[in-house]
Amino acid sequence: DSPTWHEQKQRFEDGWNHRTNVSALSRRIEPLHDLQTMSTFENEPDSDWTQIQVREQLNQAIANWSNPVLPPLAELDFVLDQAVVSQPAWESRTIEERRQILMSAAKVMRQDRFRTIACMQREAKKAIWEADAEISEAIDFARYYAMEFEIPASMKAQALGVVVVTPPWNFPYAIPAGGVLAALMAGCSVILKPAPETAVTAYLLASQLWEAGVPRDVLQFFPCEDGETGKALITDSRVAAVVLTGGWETAQMFRNWRPTLRLYAETSGKNAMVITAQADRELAIKDLVKSAFGHSGQKCSAASLAIVDQEIYRDPAFRRQLRDAASSLIVGPATDRRSVVTPLIRPASPALHRALTTLEPGEEWLLEPVQSPHDPCLWSPGIKLGVKPGSWFHLTECFGPVLGIMCSTTLDEAIKWQNATSFGLTAGLHTLDKEEQVYWKDRVQAGNVYINRSTTGAIVRRQPFGGWKRSSIGPGAKAGGPNYSHLFTRLTDRNSFV
Ligand code: GLU
Repeated sequence: DSPTWHEQKQRFEDGWNHRTNVSALSRRIEPLHDLQTMSTFENEPDSDWTQIQVREQLNQAIANWSNPVLPPLAELDFVLDQAVVSQPAWESRTIEERRQILMSAAKVMRQDRFRTIACMQREAKKAIWEADAEISEAIDFARYYAMEFEIPASMKAQALGVVVVTPPWNFPYAIPAGGVLAALMAGCSVILKPAPETAVTAYLLASQLWEAGVPRDVLQFFPCEDGETGKALITDSRVAAVVLTGGWETAQMFRNWRPTLRLYAETSGKNAMVITAQADRELAIKDLVKSAFGHSGQKCSAASLAIVDQEIYRDPAFRRQLRDAASSLIVGPATDRRSVVTPLIRPASPALHRALTTLEPGEEWLLEPVQSPHDPCLWSPGIKLGVKPGSWFHLTECFGPVLGIMCSTTLDEAIKWQNATSFGLTAGLHTLDKEEQVYWKDRVQAGNVYINRSTTGAIVRRQPFGGWKRSSIGPGAKAGGPNYSHLFTRLTDRNSFV
């Protein structure tokens, strides 16, 4: 029997609110077993803030947090040599040994959860639950790659060698964890070059992995500036591959520096959520607000556009509800536990500033963003109506708390506009109509497509993460999905050796 409308709604509600429930829903996916330990992969639940002792542990961690002293900067040449020399011994350990170290890493990360949140709250200006979800994701990466990495009996695998991981500041913990852990599991040595804005968080991650048993020369922390030394690192022939999460321009720059570079890059996005006349409006609003304003819109996966069917678009009740939902989000510093919309990592870029302060012809504010008089990086959410197809805002990634609404007359038109950007990272659809869902899914051009859900917060194994078009460079295996860790090996058929 197909579920009733209310059952569907209830099911989505259950799944949306708690990762624990999301993983309960995932039972329909075949379980992933670790044959050695007979354990089954389950997504790590986020913290349960309803428990007083959980809140107290966090309070304590925040009160006690003080920045660790980062190690003095090593010479690039020395770091590269260490990485080359240490790698073969790491690769020659059994897969089982490396698996156990990754499993221990998951434990250390779990134990250190509150300290890590305290660090991200300070350094990345992340709201607590955003930081908390990142830690769950990082633990998932450790356990998933540990359990998933296998070499088929008929194949021979060789680790690539030295891998450089260059993560972004917006996910300063989960994204470096993903790249580092996959490469380590495959037997590579890793140089972690943190984003300058969030070096302490990356250092905390590296320290946790060292504590779990990853040798210090196999995983090295190398916080260099992005200029000369960064270029020397990327272009050095001792580096076999680079994992980058950042802007499209940065990926192009790496390519120009070294055209033969093996580069796995997750780059920019301009993501839209389509809302059809068959949508559950309240749920669509809830997910749209989460997708647009979570971490102040500073996610590659964020929805900065909603393409809304004219029937809903013109409905004053929809506009009022959307405006109320966005304006009820508490805007404040990350250190205030209640804040939902927290300050930008740095003052708005010229593109974001334009998006936050100006309207194109035909646009009007449904909710005008306001800059805090106390902190130039803090902006309240903005929503502009009347964004026109082909306009600047339709096609430009802005990376901040501003959402544009377009009015569509048909689903075909909405899909056309959704696909019109040069990027293709995430895409959302809200409709309860099964036929619309199938029609859309077959036509939308994005790596991660979500129906009746927010466009952010991909869950390891359930929603492997990676884009299309200008959102991704590389062979296309997705983070948190099958074969990702194999990107760091060369697989050869054993028969080719006889
Ligand atoms: N994986 C994150 C998500 O699904 C986004 C990562 C990014 O912004 O680069 O929300």
